[in-house]
Amino acid sequence: MTEAGHIELGPFPDRPGYATAQSLDDNDHLAGFRHRFFFDPEEPDMIYLDGNSLGRLPLAAREVTERLVDEQWGRGLIRSWNDGWWDLQVRLGDRLAGIIGAKSGEVIVSDSTSVNLYKLAMAAARGRNGRHKIVTDDLNFPTDLYVLDGVGQALGDAHRLEVVASNGVEGPVDALERSIDEDTALVSLSHTVFKSGYTYDIESLTETAHRAGALILWDLSHSVGVIPISLGESGADLAVGCTYKYLNGGPGSPAFLYVCEELQSQLENPITAWWGHARPFDFELGFEPVEGIRRFHSGTMPIVSLALIEAGLNVVADAGIVALRGKSQALTQFLIEQWEEHLQPLGFELATPLDPSRRGSHVSLGHEEAWRITQAMIGAAQVLPDFRAPDNIRLGLAPLYTSFMDVHTAVQRIREVVETGTHLHFEDDRPSVT
Ligand SMILES: *Cc1c(COP(=O)(O)O)cnc(C)c1O
Repeated sequence: MTEAGHIELGPFPDRPGYATAQSLDDNDHLAGFRHRFFFDPEEPDMIYLDGNSLGRLPLAAREVTERLVDEQWGRGLIRSWNDGWWDLQVRLGDRLAGIIGAKSGEVIVSDSTSVNLYKLAMAAARGRNGRHKIVTDDLNFPTDLYVLDGVGQALGDAHRLEVVASNGVEGPVDALERSIDEDTALVSLSHTVFKSGYTYDIESLTETAHRAGALILWDLSHSVGVIPISLGESGADLAVGCTYKYLNGGPGSPAFLYVCEELQSQLENPITAWWGHARPFDFELGFEPVEGIRRFHSGTMPIVSLALIEAGLNVVADAGIVALRGKSQALTQFLIEQWEEHLQPLGFELATPLDPSRRGSHVSLGHEEAWRITQAMIGAAQVLPDFRAPDNIRLGLAPLYTSFMDVHTAVQRIREVVETGTHLHFEDDRPSVT
């Protein structure tokens, strides 16, 4: 980086949209939830638009950490396993079930999203013996594609992965419907896709899969906590998702998995480990799976990280998922209006669906200088977005703690960056985590 210019941080009362932002904030019933999160007093001007990658720290999580480390680990030691640790992932699974429209006993917190996807995709592919196709799309998160491809290879290349092509923004629904046939064992898609934010209709795709006799596995990582999801009502078979994005569970917090009740006894976890055993503390030499959702466990959970998830879940539950969806749609709508007025003329392209029902809670903007603009946003404008190669700036609008004025100010700062040419002071090299 060479010398970066100084840019105006606002607020910008003279710019169009300011009064609208003010009145939207005044009428926002969720505005108070912001105070349940940590905001660094040393960075009062920083606007965080990356809650879809790593949610903010809920203040209550600090108390959980103290209790867990000092009391439960420090004093309780091994006794704490019987004092709430052993069942914690089931208890948190039941809490999550309420957020994704599942029944108690259909969800557990376990491993990472990638590992859960592997377990469930493998179980599904084996459970639909004689079928040879796994269907997904090219909007899916790369780890999902790698895992699904790996499942095919682990099954002796008997399965091939069909990656249905999209236009880069909208889910290729018609092409998917054509691709899902009687040779399809599994359909696996992201509910809300990570780049454009396109959001599938879970119910209709699930029906398409079932009509062909295939199972469907939804990745809810980018929708859980901001979109009401009805897995049970939609008849969905399987799902996985992150807890560290809109659920604010903390960096690398364990993920969750859902297996509908009817399938639990029919499918087998490919990682036959001791936490999924019928009698783990009998230490038998042979494996026998436990009944129910626990059979999809692997081994010992990272309890410290697991326990923090509850603090995030409490905030989401208190706000209510329907209210969160309402605010999220209003935020993305306001951002798109602001983009049209202020950013489109500067070469930014909207890479997110215009239909609010097909959108998640983030908005993607394409620009040929996206990487340098991202660096200038972080370095000079104090706006934290994330960058997705090759030319995508992703703005995550977490409804629990993002205000309409944050959106207005952020858009004006981006405008300042480009109009003053501040981004031109930044180099075109990229670090390993963007
Ligand atoms: C964030 C995300 C992941 C992350 O997987 P990890 O195993 O936690 O690294 C996977 N899939 C999707 C769709 C995501 O958005």
